[in-house]
This record gives sequence, structure tokens and C-alpha cells, in this order.
Amino acid sequence: MDTISLPSIQNTSPADWQYISEGGSSIVFSYSGPVNPQFDGTALRLRKVSNDSPVSPDQSQSAAEGQLEEPDDPTIVFQREIIQRLVPLTYLPRLEAVKVEREWLTQLAKLCEEKRPLERRAKDRIDLNRKKAVLATDLVGGKGWAVEIKPKWGFLPSPTHLSPATVATKTTTCRFCMHSHLKSTDGENVSLGYCPLDLFSGDTDRVKKALNTLWDVWIGSSGSVNNLRIFVEGQMLRPSVLPQSLRPLATQIIPSDARHPDLITIRDRFVDSVLPLLLDTPVLRILSMHQRNLDTLDIEGLSTLWKNAHSPLGPSEGIKIPSLGSGLTQPAIQELSSFVDIYLQKHAAMDHEHPDTANLQYYCLAYLLSASFKDCSIIMRIPPVSFDGKRREGTITVIDLDVKGVDRLSKWEKLDREIVASYVGVGDPAVCVDGQKGSTRL
Ligand SMILES: [Zn+2]
Repeated sequence: MDTISLPSIQNTSPADWQYISEGGSSIVFSYSGPVNPQFDGTALRLRKVSNDSPVSPDQSQSAAEGQLEEPDDPTIVFQREIIQRLVPLTYLPRLEAVKVEREWLTQLAKLCEEKRPLERRAKDRIDLNRKKAVLATDLVGGKGWAVEIKPKWGFLPSPTHLSPATVATKTTTCRFCMHSHLKSTDGENVSLGYCPLDLFSGDTDRVKKALNTLWDVWIGSSGSVNNLRIFVEGQMLRPSVLPQSLRPLATQIIPSDARHPDLITIRDRFVDSVLPLLLDTPVLRILSMHQRNLDTLDIEGLSTLWKNAHSPLGPSEGIKIPSLGSGLTQPAIQELSSFVDIYLQKHAAMDHEHPDTANLQYYCLAYLLSASFKDCSIIMRIPPVSFDGKRREGTITVIDLDVKGVDRLSKWEKLDREIVASYVGVGDPAVCVDGQKGSTRL
């Protein structure tokens, strides 16, 4: 789409955009201004840059209009060309490009600065040089409330390509539980006790357990752990152990005659509100199926395949094997799209027990895509309750399915080694049960 026909954010005031939240690379605002058919019900997602990067001069005057056309944000292209072929459209947000300008972004950056968490402000800021941003369905604003869950890795690896040193550990305890253990021994605040395999299990008691644990960690960490977030009418809740910190949520889910609900009552009502949606939806099954299929070799098997491909005559002295993924260029969207063609048509029939070195590129791209599915979030939107006994349907949407950098392959390999090494020999290992095993049908 050419720039001229794009909606322009200039038609709104920066003050009409309410800060919602931010992640590592982007920051999100929700439209809350006067009625505007173009922007009502939308959220604006802007890219951030590190505070270390220099402030570059305003270049908008230096190039003739259209001469330096900025491509649409990679998120938009990635969703349109790749993700929409793997996840039904009904579970994805609408994403489109929108024109932004430096002056407008500068004003917005000023307005939102004090709402941003201190640790984020210390690290990064809105990228003022962008000419385009992403306009998305606003999943957290408006009436009602919304829950965001980052479910993480929903499968146990197949033992086929694991080494004797790791196989027992990696097929007993899931990657997330091992990683939480490592992070917590390093003193980091994590979702200790939350096992994604419970959330993905489809089993009522286990999904309840996962939600209760996510909630308890959310309260205990004052909302600083990012596996659970709750928004009421566009505002992210900052919980504490005091029930009044949850009042906005309580008024949504508990009849007003119950004056002072305690924490347990609010938690139980929260779980009851979210549970039916999670049990009904195919979304979690779709996410774990893609994670499992795309990471079919495990990083260990991928690493072995890489080594075999780079030393076809077997290991011999003097041959220096490059680190996993080195020399690979970031795949263009056409390359990823061709990958998806093969994935959808041939993956199920391929011999993954004896992967062919000729398919090294295929497995590297598969692993890269699996990482997107391991790191995305789901947002459940729960309509306001009218306590008339009628059940209203909520919606569930998958967000933050971003393309990952191919340069991270070797980092992931190293991290995997660290995570497992820290867990091998743990006295009382978590036993994580993979209830979806065998569910690989595309
Ligand atoms: Zn687990």
C-alpha cells in the first residue's frame, strides 16, 4: 500500500492515546479520544530504540516525499504472509500500517514518559525516526476487562535427538520449569511453580492450577512478572496483597452487594471467568502443535545436524565447525513463505528421526519460527458481566508473533546447555506431564 492512502495519526491529538504497556522492542497505546471511525477501538504500536543510540537529525525534509519509502513494520508483513497461514484469522488481531511524524511522536513520548516503568525508561525510548507504525485491534480498552497470558513452551521434546546426559532431565521437566529454576537461583522474579504444560493440557483441574499459580505470582510480584497481565477498561492493574488494589477487577466479576471481597474470592472468580474460554478454544492446541512440530529436533538435534553438514566425513581434527547458525542471513519474507509451503505440505511425511543434512536450512528456519510461537501471548477479552445469569462469550487473540533474529540460534543453544546443566541433579525435579503428546497434525 502506498504511503498516501495510509491513515495518518496526525488527525488525532497525542493526548488521545493512552499508554497501555510495553515489551522489549515496542510500546503500545490505546485510542481514547473523540469518536473517530478510523481510530476507535484501535491500539498504536510503536518501535523503541535503545537510549544508547544517538538522536539522529530530522530527515523528513531531506528526502522528497515517497523517495525513501519506509517498508511496513515487519510484524505486519510477517503476520500477513506467514502467520495467517498457520493460525486462523479469527484468532489474530487486525494489523495495518499507519503514518506517523516526528513532531507528533515527540509530543506523545513526553506525555507518556511518567507512566512508563523506571527500568524501561532507563533502557529505551520511542523511536522518533519512524515514518510508519502499526495500528492494531485494541484488545484491552473499552468496556469489560482483558487478561494477557504469555504461555511459553507447551511441549516436552521427543527423546530422539537428546544426548545421554540430558535425555532424562529434558523429558521429565519442561523447558519453562527448568528455566524458572535457573532464573530464581539467580535471584530473578519468575513464575515459579507455573508449568505451561498444565495450561496447555486441556484438563480442567490442571488449567485451573496453572491460572491459580499465575495469579499468585502476579500478586506476589506486584505484577512485575510478565506471564500474566490484567487490564480493566484499558488500564493495566498494578496488584498488591491488598484487596483494594484489585477493586477495578472485582467490580467487573463480583456482584456489587459483596462489599469487600477477599483475595481468594477475587482469585476464584477470576479463574472461573477465564477457564471456560481456555478450555473451549483451539488456540492453545494450535500454538503447542506448531511449537512441537517446528522444534522437532530440539536444539541439540539441530546442532548435531549442523555439525554433520559442516563435516560430512565425520569429526576430524583441524576442522573448525562454525557455531550454530553463523553465516546464515536473516531470511526474507519470500524465503519464510517458501518454508511454510514445505512445512504445510511435507513436514508430516519427513523422516525427522534421520534428518537429512540437505534439509539443514529447513530445520534452521523451522526452529526460528518455533521461537515466535514459544514467545507469543494470548489476550482474552471478557465482556462486562451483568449478573443476570447469562453467559457472554469472550474472545481470544494471539499477539506478539514476531519474527526472531537468526543470529540468536547459537545463543539459544548456549542457553539450553546452561538451563539443563543447572537442572541435572536437582534433588526433587518437577515432573511435567505433556498431555498433548502425539498431537502434531497440521
Ligand atoms: Zn513444567
